[in-house]
Amino acid sequence: MTRSALVVAALCSMVLLSACQPKPEPIRFGEEVCAYCRMGISDPRFGAELLTRQGRVYKFDALECMVEFERSGALSAERIHSRWVVDFGQPGELIPVEEAEFVHAPNVHSPMGLNVYAVARGRYDADSLLPRGQRVSWEEVVQLVQRLWQSGPPRGSAP
Ligand SMILES: [Zn+2]
Repeated sequence: MTRSALVVAALCSMVLLSACQPKPEPIRFGEEVCAYCRMGISDPRFGAELLTRQGRVYKFDALECMVEFERSGALSAERIHSRWVVDFGQPGELIPVEEAEFVHAPNVHSPMGLNVYAVARGRYDADSLLPRGQRVSWEEVVQLVQRLWQSGPPRGSAP
């Protein structure tokens, strides 16, 4: 193989790899149903999406449903490609969990009652119009969900 053929081959495999990267799908609010609690996904300030390495997309009405879906063992950890959450400050926009910060604000009523919203990193400090609350890490969000579901299934949730 010539040198340029090698470069072309390398470029092609890079293109193929990026084509295989699962990408989030926009949530169709008012039309789709939560993969965990089966309620309609209607509030564009909330919602979450889980992508598998095989390219499967699971959509949720609230990030607490995504956490509980994972905790229920529906998917093994190694099948998960990425987790996305709706940016409260940009309704309908999905951002990776790693690029989000989470705010526990009792006066913000999320669909399943956790009262946590996600927002792009840095936006909470920059935008004083966002509801005030306590900033929590993703790990703390997971703990809050565990506590919420332990005290009995929240309103409207399946099993
Ligand atoms: Zn749900």
